[in-house]
Amino acid sequence: MQSLAVKLRSEKRLIGLVPTMGYLHEGHLTLIRHAKEQVDTVVVSIFVNPIQFGPSEDFAKYPRDLERDLKLCAEAGADIVFRPSTDELYPKGYSTYISEDFIGKPLEGVSRPTHFRGVLTVVAKLFNIVSPDIAVFGQKDAQQVAVVKKMVNDLHMIVNIVVVPTVRESDGLAMSSRNRYLSTTQREDAIVISQALRKAKEMVDSGVKNADRLIAEATHILGTKRRIRVIYVATVDRATMEPQREIIPGKSLMAIAAWVDEVRLIDNMLL
Ligand code: AMP
Repeated sequence: MQSLAVKLRSEKRLIGLVPTMGYLHEGHLTLIRHAKEQVDTVVVSIFVNPIQFGPSEDFAKYPRDLERDLKLCAEAGADIVFRPSTDELYPKGYSTYISEDFIGKPLEGVSRPTHFRGVLTVVAKLFNIVSPDIAVFGQKDAQQVAVVKKMVNDLHMIVNIVVVPTVRESDGLAMSSRNRYLSTTQREDAIVISQALRKAKEMVDSGVKNADRLIAEATHILGTKRRIRVIYVATVDRATMEPQREIIPGKSLMAIAAWVDEVRLIDNMLL
């Protein structure tokens, strides 16, 4: 992959990278199509990165379906699917990691303290291997976007981070590979996550700026379903993830993490 990228660059071709963990859905495909509009060669990486999963998380059972993924990548316009093995990326004795010390600490960082270290390490490795001009990420993982942008800025990396809005099911549920864990009844309850976010957005649009009121209303909506256990509901600055007491339209987002029984889901909405 690295030699191929050097060759493509010598031919002055623009490279776009879409990093994924596979089990692709319409959200991923939107990222790929978006990349295809901007560059000559789209590289989709498929790698279930073990170091971004905590010890009690779902690494072993994370869904995988390579054959289907390859077909979907081709249909969406991907030119190259890069699928490194764990041993290639983390050979015996591997010991270099990237951690960001501020933006990644709250929200996901509280329950998943090594998650963003794993994400940044693999993303930096992918950037070095693929040398992309652009890398496309989904707003679905808002804190990941903020942390990756910070790394690129702090480490002077030459890559443009492009962010694509969250793709949702028709009932509002944010698409996620983890949605396949949901039973029909759990899926029905999961819808309240996006409903709570939409309500917050409506309140801001109608003039409410006080974060306490938005959080209270969103928490109330989440509380109407018995399978939902709230991990956090927060209004934060979209770039720094710092909590905000007063919403600044265009700069704030509401982030929610919740268990639907044993399935952990995250979602967010720009306010
Ligand atoms: P994952 O395979 O879950 O690591 O996701 C790979 C990329 O797809 C990340 O940049 C995600 O933010 C993005 N992504 C996942 N779900 C969605 C979605 N529903 N809408 C937009 N982007 C998404």
